[in-house]
Amino acid sequence: MGKIKTTFPDGSQREYESGTTGLFIAESISKGLAKEALAVEVNGEVWDLSRRINSDASIKILKWNDDGGKYAYWHSSAHLMAEAVEALFPGTKFGIGPPIEVGFYYDLDLGDRQLTNDDLKKIEEKMYELSNRDAPYVREEKPWAEAVSYFKKKDDPYKLELLEDLKGETISFYHSGNFTDLCYGPHLPSTGKIKAIRLLNLAGAYWRGSEKNKMLTRIYGVTFPTKKELDDYLFRLEEAKRRDHRKLGQELELFLLTPKVGGGLPLWLPKGAVLREALIEFMKDEQKKRGYDFVVTPHIGNLELYKTSGHYPYYKDSQFPPIRISDDEAFLLKPMNCPHHHQIYAVKPRSYRDLPIRLAEFGTVYRYEQSGEMNGLTRVRGFTQDDAHIYCAHEQLKEEIKSVTEFTQYVFKTFGMEVRTRLSYRDDKNVEKYGGQAEFWERAQREIKEVADEMKLDYFVGIGEASFYGPKIDFMVKDTLGRTWQLGTVQVDYVMPERFQLEYVGSDGQKHRPVIIHRAPFGSLERFVGILIEHFAGEFPLWLSPVQVAVLPITDAFAGYGQEVIAKLKSNGIRVELDDRNEKIGYKIREWETKKVPFMLVVGEKEQAAGTVAVRQHKKGDQGAVSLHEFVQRIVETITQKSLTL
Ligand SMILES: [Zn+2]
Ligand SMILES: [Zn+2]
Repeated sequence: MGKIKTTFPDGSQREYESGTTGLFIAESISKGLAKEALAVEVNGEVWDLSRRINSDASIKILKWNDDGGKYAYWHSSAHLMAEAVEALFPGTKFGIGPPIEVGFYYDLDLGDRQLTNDDLKKIEEKMYELSNRDAPYVREEKPWAEAVSYFKKKDDPYKLELLEDLKGETISFYHSGNFTDLCYGPHLPSTGKIKAIRLLNLAGAYWRGSEKNKMLTRIYGVTFPTKKELDDYLFRLEEAKRRDHRKLGQELELFLLTPKVGGGLPLWLPKGAVLREALIEFMKDEQKKRGYDFVVTPHIGNLELYKTSGHYPYYKDSQFPPIRISDDEAFLLKPMNCPHHHQIYAVKPRSYRDLPIRLAEFGTVYRYEQSGEMNGLTRVRGFTQDDAHIYCAHEQLKEEIKSVTEFTQYVFKTFGMEVRTRLSYRDDKNVEKYGGQAEFWERAQREIKEVADEMKLDYFVGIGEASFYGPKIDFMVKDTLGRTWQLGTVQVDYVMPERFQLEYVGSDGQKHRPVIIHRAPFGSLERFVGILIEHFAGEFPLWLSPVQVAVLPITDAFAGYGQEVIAKLKSNGIRVELDDRNEKIGYKIREWETKKVPFMLVVGEKEQAAGTVAVRQHKKGDQGAVSLHEFVQRIVETITQKSLTL
């Protein structure tokens, strides 16, 4: 037996006997690592810890926090579940049982048996019992014919069908406890590593995804190394359901998606439109302060315009087909606002003294998303971008990137969102994928990094994440549930100025090409509102709340005073509704509470006599009586400051 050399992620190297295992390597490094180890990555492939390594290799011991570790964990959990099912329901036939993004499933043929939620509980209990036995996962390789005869004997048509595609190959089996599966692996060392188990739900799934085949029963489950992690996950799952923007959007009457208008084409209801307008107004005010000019451009444009930009035909799969008028005239629903803005730049000769020129528009664009990909407001076919294009001289680029980055950060801070920044560079091994000259790319990438360093941004570099026409800065926002969303981008573009022959006259009297920055902090207003609904669980900060205050007279007799209160609030720009229905006050309060309105003002005899209002705050209840004047002052201040708390 010879020696093999292993290289670790930190670059260090060690020598082992050939035929050593990942587990042995982990133990040789530390006992703690061996205990935490779930699998091992060998030259980029995930292997069982018990598998022998026979040649020099790059090695990474995988733990729970590594994707490969989770993969082995959930894959092994699928086997554990299958063993439990087989023990409880003998004769079950098994389809496939892969790990998924979070957790795993297994597709089962249980004959005529319909599983119930009680059955899921029983399977779960059995899984705990089997995990306690701590049976090892054992890999075994067999010739193809032997594998076939095993599953013939077991009478499992699904595994036999899978084997048909592997004809002639060596087949790997995995045994754990009493269960044997046809499987590539990798798996955990033993079932005892699986500590916290929850089977989530049942679904129907056609064998191999085809409607022509039999519908199998799919069981979804998740497992974790500790009960706490499972509980945290289940909590986040419930929270995500409670916060689902599609559900809240309907309950709070914000928007409507209906097949009568078309999938992915949202209609904004009055309350949603208020929210949208508040966002637009905020962005308009901030952009005016920062020297942007507003423009308005139509929803369609001549097809030739998009041929010049290259958006047609290169992105035609994600666009609605052109509207053809005649053989030589066609229009495109605009997939981008950029080419329209470039025409505005080119409307007259530009001098270096005019630059930078910043053109902004809330421009609605249309993309043809596949029907399966549409999802509430987050994936739609028509949406409005908070778009702008900055035309500047090369020597102004850094300053402009800095100010748009600052602006974007400011925007997300206003919503209490944590931001991480990705510097998206081109992949130097794949330069033919990108337009523009190499020297511009290098310079722009260097300048983006300088800006990020000077601003002390929390950033990471994404190689190959650049767009076709230039490097960009992407902002990844974390919401209250810890989910990451890619929102605004700042893109540097050297290609479109060439394609559209954009120019300015420099101080040297010569013609030069400007550089363009494309930027949109929200990206899409629709998607941003969807994210905001979930981020705030529908409990918007006061400045965004569609209804900020509800006025509730105790009885009809005080409706007149209620009107007075309403008039005063309205004259201060506060969005308010009067509830003068002939209902009990307790009933009205409960109803406005479910509408998540930040403030309720209860008015009766005492309040009318003293010129006060009895304030109730959403979720906090009675806050006591204050003079109407004082209440107005207080909330106007909260609104003006865009405060996140009331
Ligand atoms: Zn497996
Ligand atoms: Zn653009």
